[in-house]
Amino acid sequence: MSEAVLRGSGMTSLRTRKRMVERLVARGIRDERVLDLMARMPRHLFVEEALASRAYEDLALPIGFGQTISQPYMVARMTEALLQNGPLERVLEVGTGSGFQTALLASLVPQVYSVERIAPLLEQARRRLTRMRIANVRFHHSDGHWGWPEHAPFDAILVAAAPNEIPESLLMQLRIEGALVIPVGSGVNQRLMRYTRTPFGFADETLETVHFVPLQEGVG
Ligand code: SAH
Repeated sequence: MSEAVLRGSGMTSLRTRKRMVERLVARGIRDERVLDLMARMPRHLFVEEALASRAYEDLALPIGFGQTISQPYMVARMTEALLQNGPLERVLEVGTGSGFQTALLASLVPQVYSVERIAPLLEQARRRLTRMRIANVRFHHSDGHWGWPEHAPFDAILVAAAPNEIPESLLMQLRIEGALVIPVGSGVNQRLMRYTRTPFGFADETLETVHFVPLQEGVG
């Protein structure tokens, strides 16, 4: 992919991205690694061309199949929440969607595993990351409720869609000290949670109120 495409212009320029990052700082994102990556990551390449001019607004945007690319603030917040648990080697992402969060994770950790239930979204994300020469991601078409047991345990698991209850198998695929960041519940009662595995069980923290699409059953 050419430098000019990655750099963008006008509404997708570095200047526009800097303004987005300033808004992230204003909303409380502090991790420099996350802020730096958010400024460099070409989010306009993860949405349809017709929406590219809105790619650096702090909005979730449609990506087809009734799904959305997560809001930049939410991607930054979840990534920051994962990184707070110390250095990460292997991370599982549930809900690849556009692949934007996947690309961000792949720039921060050596090995990323990403599971998506809608095959065309998965294939599109795979192509995008290949074009960006990101090679440390393995994709899997599956229902993320089951995690990816063949590659467990993970240092961290990030889920981009909300179940009503925490899937037990995701908790069981964390190593000790590993963290699961996941939205849980629906409507006004949906909360972003972090579960950290301890030698004795799990510690949970409520991070904030959020609005994610539901974690669906089965493959699409
Ligand atoms: N981080 C992605 C978020 C996409 S929205 C992005 O920013 O683009 C959430 C995604 O989770 C959708 O692509 C949806 O298809 C997927 N999803 C929903 N339920 C799922 C399940 N059970 N297993 C795997 N993926 C699921």
